[in-house]
Amino acid sequence: MRFRTLRDVDVSGKRVIVREDLNVPLADGHVADDTRIRAALETLRFLRKQGGRIAVLSHLGRPDGKIVPRLSLAPVARDLAALLGTTVEFAADCVGPLAHEAVSGLGDGDIVILENVRFHPEEERNDPDFARALASLGELYVDDAFGTAHRAHASTEGIAHLLPSVAGFLMQRELDALAALTTNPRRPFVCAIGGAKVKDKVGVFTQLLQRVSAFVVGGGMANTFLAAQGIDVGRSLRDDDLEPARGILQDAQRRSVPLHLPSDAVVAPSFNDDEAPQTVPIADVGTQMILDIGPRTADAYAAVLRDAKTIVFNGPMGVYEKPAYRNGTRVVGEAIAEATRHGATSVVGGGDAAAAAHMLGFAEAMTHVSTGGGATLEFLEGRTLPGVAALEASAT
Ligand code: ADP
Ligand code: MG
Repeated sequence: MRFRTLRDVDVSGKRVIVREDLNVPLADGHVADDTRIRAALETLRFLRKQGGRIAVLSHLGRPDGKIVPRLSLAPVARDLAALLGTTVEFAADCVGPLAHEAVSGLGDGDIVILENVRFHPEEERNDPDFARALASLGELYVDDAFGTAHRAHASTEGIAHLLPSVAGFLMQRELDALAALTTNPRRPFVCAIGGAKVKDKVGVFTQLLQRVSAFVVGGGMANTFLAAQGIDVGRSLRDDDLEPARGILQDAQRRSVPLHLPSDAVVAPSFNDDEAPQTVPIADVGTQMILDIGPRTADAYAAVLRDAKTIVFNGPMGVYEKPAYRNGTRVVGEAIAEATRHGATSVVGGGDAAAAAHMLGFAEAMTHVSTGGGATLEFLEGRTLPGVAALEASAT
């Protein structure tokens, strides 16, 4: 990857447009989880210290090109001000007179957040005039929005062709961490993969099958693989179409890549909390639902992971949102943490896998927990991220 970074430019006294991914969950008009705001701090602090005049762009939620007051970035500006310990201005529009007025009022090191870019339908259409209107606010563009890098929108892609453009620190950190998985990964390279459906992750399997030493598979998707092998998974979540799973199993066999599936499971008659979960061998699921990998499976997966030198963890092993079905994800996460302490490189990707890592307390022990859900998946699928491609184009 060849793009320039913040270290390659002089920002002092310059109007700098920074695209962050501040798409945080809100509850009652307050920021419910500030992980993404914190992830942006390194870049923003650096720009402040260097005397940049900082205008931050972001989207929030899916307003679909309309002004939706509950999706305003105003609460995010308040949170950011508290985290930075400084005043953060807020402008009620990201283009036009309000935006220009706010930006021209900035002194060196000052910062303004401009309103949700997706209040304008032109943003997601990557409209050239809208991109020009955004670009006219600044002299330099910093793309730090890794979580949105898989979208070719005006504020992530279009604008990068109109101004000198560099990657922010978060963008750089994410891409460096992911590059460790694609550029000569140390072996054994193990992928722990779970989550809901095979259907969502066929591309990830296809790509990683060419690289990994083994897969350990849990979550709802394991049910689909088991069903594809003729095992009765009762009323468990599984894909209707078993063909993609069959294809992956055949491909894995052809390449001699072990694809480990659960030998036991935690099951219950339904999702209801008052149903007592039970552990059963995988052949004895009956009419119940598989909601987590069983302890024997978790130990077997942990043993595979502890020997690995490179690990990618995508998708939880069970319904980690409920305490009764968290054990598999915890045991697997702790094994990855242990491997990391012994020198392995570990990357957690996927929104739910990252949330589980934070919830279960093993995030800190990982080499990297990605802030990108869709962007990380698309990277793992080997796809070009338009936001990154635009930065590369700007560097040539
Ligand atoms: P990620 O965001 O990490 O890529 P996914 O979005 O693919 O992961 O899947 C996460 C979801 O999968 C979680 O909501 C979790 O409850 C669900 N899940 C995991 N295991 C099961 C299971 N056995 N049955 C039903 N849902 C499951
Ligand atoms: Mg998810």
